[in-house]
Amino acid sequence: MLLVHKYGGTSVGSLERIENVASRVSKAREEGHDLVVVVSAMSGETNKLIEYAHHFTPNPAKQEMDMLLSSGERVTAALLSIALQAKGHDAVAMTGRQAGIVTDTSHTYARIETIDPTAMQNAIKQGKIVIVAGFQGVNKEGNVTTLGRGGSDLSAVAIAGALSADACEIYSDVDGIYTTDPRIEPKAKKLDIISYDEMLEMASLGAKVLQNRSVELAKKLNIKLYAKSSFSDNNGTLITKESANMEEVLVSGVVLDKNQARVTLRNVSDKPGIAAEIFTKLAKENINVDMIIQNVGIDGATHLGFTVAQNELERAKKVIESFDHDIKGMDFDENICKVSVVGVGMRSHAGVAAQAFSTLASSNINIEMIATSEIKVSMVINEKYGELATRMLHEAYGLDN
Ligand code: ASP
Ligand code: MG
Repeated sequence: MLLVHKYGGTSVGSLERIENVASRVSKAREEGHDLVVVVSAMSGETNKLIEYAHHFTPNPAKQEMDMLLSSGERVTAALLSIALQAKGHDAVAMTGRQAGIVTDTSHTYARIETIDPTAMQNAIKQGKIVIVAGFQGVNKEGNVTTLGRGGSDLSAVAIAGALSADACEIYSDVDGIYTTDPRIEPKAKKLDIISYDEMLEMASLGAKVLQNRSVELAKKLNIKLYAKSSFSDNNGTLITKESANMEEVLVSGVVLDKNQARVTLRNVSDKPGIAAEIFTKLAKENINVDMIIQNVGIDGATHLGFTVAQNELERAKKVIESFDHDIKGMDFDENICKVSVVGVGMRSHAGVAAQAFSTLASSNINIEMIATSEIKVSMVINEKYGELATRMLHEAYGLDN
C-alpha cells in the first residue's frame, strides 16, 4: 500500500518525539508500505517565528512571512529524514516546491492549484521514504507560499490525492474523534468511523482535530482519512464517505462551542439591502457569522440576531456601531455558548430536534436560539449550562453506553 502519514506539531515537538515518529514510520515501512510523510513545524515554532517578525513591525510583508514560516516545517522534514537514515532507511526530505506543490499567489493563505508528483514518485520507485515539509508550496513566480494555519493537514490530503494513496493518516496527540469532549463527559467514546459531513460539522463546531479545509478536500477527492495518535497504537477514527449503516445511528456526537457571542439588533429598518450591507461589511472585516435569525418585521422595523466567535466580538461591535442610523438598539452577550448534536441519521429519522429540546427542557435550560441543517441541530444557551447540556444530550441519544 501507499500511505501518506502526517505528523502534527505536538507529535514532532522535541527531538525525542521526532525519534518516536521515525520509529513509527520505520515500523510501517517494515510492514511493506510505501510512505510519504508530511510534517508540521515543532509545536510552538510557527508562533515563535510570528513573534519574531512582530518584534520589528505589526504588519510584516506577507511574502517575507511565508519565507519565514515555511522554514519551521523544513526543519522537521530534514530532521525526520536524518533520523530515518540513522535507522538505516533510505529517506529524502523535500520542501513543498521539491514535492511539486504549486499554489496561487495569495501569500499566507495560498490555495494549492496543482501538484506534480513526479519527484515524489521517482523517489518512491527508488525505494525511498519521502518526507515532505507541510504547509507550503511555491507560486508561479517561484516564491514560497504557505497554506494558512494548520495547513499541513491540507498538504497531506492533497499529496494523498495526487499520488492516489490508499489512505491518509493524520497523527496528533488525540487518538481520534470522540462522541463529545472527554474532559466534559468522561463517558465519551472514540468513534471508529464518521462521515466527511459529520466531521465537517463537528470541526466547525469546535472539535479541532483536523483542519476543515483538509476534510473538505478529502471529501472532494474521496480520500480515506484517519485521525490517529502518534503516542498510542489505537485504531483511530476513519473519516470516509457516508454509507447506509451510518444512518442507523441518530446522533454521532455532541459538540460544545464556548467561544461564541451573540449580537442582537433591535428595530432594524425593515428595507431591502440592509442585511446585505451589515453582513457584507462584517465579511469584509473577516468576521465569521453564524446562526443568523431575523424576525418578521412589524411597523417598518425588525429584529436581527446572530452569533460570532467571542474573540471577534469587539471587531463585530465596531462594524455594527457604524450602522447606528438604521439600528435602534443593540445588545452584545458573551455569556452564551452553542451546543450541537450532529448525525447523518437525522436525514432519515424524525424527532431528533424535538428530543434535543425536551432534553434541555427537562433540566430547565432555556434555549435562546436554534439553527438546524440536514445533519445538525444547534442551540444557543446560557454559558453556565453548556457542560450540563452536553452531558444530558450525550446521555439522551444513547452515547453513554
Ligand atoms: N505550522 C503551521 C501552523 O502552526 C502549520 C501546521 O502545523 O499545520 O499553523
Ligand atoms: Mg496542526
